Amino acid sequence: MSRTPALPILIVLAALAAAGPAAEADARKPRVNDKVWSPNYTASRSRRIRYVVIHTVQGSYAGAMSWFKNRSSRVSAHYVVSFKGRLGQCVKDKNIAWHAGNWSYNVASIGIEHEGYVSRRNNYTTPMLRKSAALTRFLCDKYRIPIDRRHIISHKQVPGSTHTDPGPYFPWRRYIRMVKQAGGPRTRPVSTRAVVFKGFGWVRKKPAQGGAKLGKAPKGQRFVRTHRRGNWLRVWYDGRAGWIREKSVRTLSRVPLVLVRAKHQPRLAPEPGAERWKRFLAKGQLYARDARENAPGWFRIWLGPRQAWVKRDKVRTLVR
Ligand SMILES: [Zn+2]
Repeated sequence: MSRTPALPILIVLAALAAAGPAAEADARKPRVNDKVWSPNYTASRSRRIRYVVIHTVQGSYAGAMSWFKNRSSRVSAHYVVSFKGRLGQCVKDKNIAWHAGNWSYNVASIGIEHEGYVSRRNNYTTPMLRKSAALTRFLCDKYRIPIDRRHIISHKQVPGSTHTDPGPYFPWRRYIRMVKQAGGPRTRPVSTRAVVFKGFGWVRKKPAQGGAKLGKAPKGQRFVRTHRRGNWLRVWYDGRAGWIREKSVRTLSRVPLVLVRAKHQPRLAPEPGAERWKRFLAKGQLYARDARENAPGWFRIWLGPRQAWVKRDKVRTLVR
């Protein structure tokens, strides 16, 4: 078996980064009760969202919503949360709200306002914290923001800030814990490896037992894992991302994989005229190659419930 050249690894990493973790496995956005769009924003972002900035209104929920709607206020935030856990949105995530008082932080953050006052000891109610934490969790999952105090920050932490919000009574430790718990385990990339089914198993659409099935996996079928969520692994299966239970497979190493370089429809036999597989493979997907069978110009892969053949010039091979 040949050593893996460096280039394909970089390509794989880039492909995985571009594909991102399965959106279907991420925390859901909590329901927005009030959408009152603010005119105070800058369209589109030049930088990736890296922070969630926590604010306190110094006033009521309704007051904040109407203040942000007022063009002459020249301020806004993406979201406002009330004492009772009502959620308002004033600026779309893709746009830059004017909340942090620091342009480079505005460009790279989402701002969440909390009803009430910095100086009030019992300002941050449980329904408010719960809704806010669920929202922050959704944002962290969607934009790949680490769940820690270097990325979920107070307005006070923003360099150059003259504000003190959310103040000494905001329960940071509890809040971060709530953000972590709000969506269950996070979907994380794992080192790319082939896995083999120890017995007959199922590939599911979501990482949950009893959920909708993507397809079956007979004993010995191999797939390529890319992400983990709790005890579940995400694999490529028949052109789509699916989830399998970790305990139903064994991990292999130093086995050949193929990385799809271009949209491609596999064949049932290694001939140009052979019957086509019903589904396309998309660029960036990874499959385990069955090196026991070879045909000039073709690779045999474990695709889904069965094997299929892909053209060599449509894929890159690597050993992981
Ligand atoms: Zn603030």
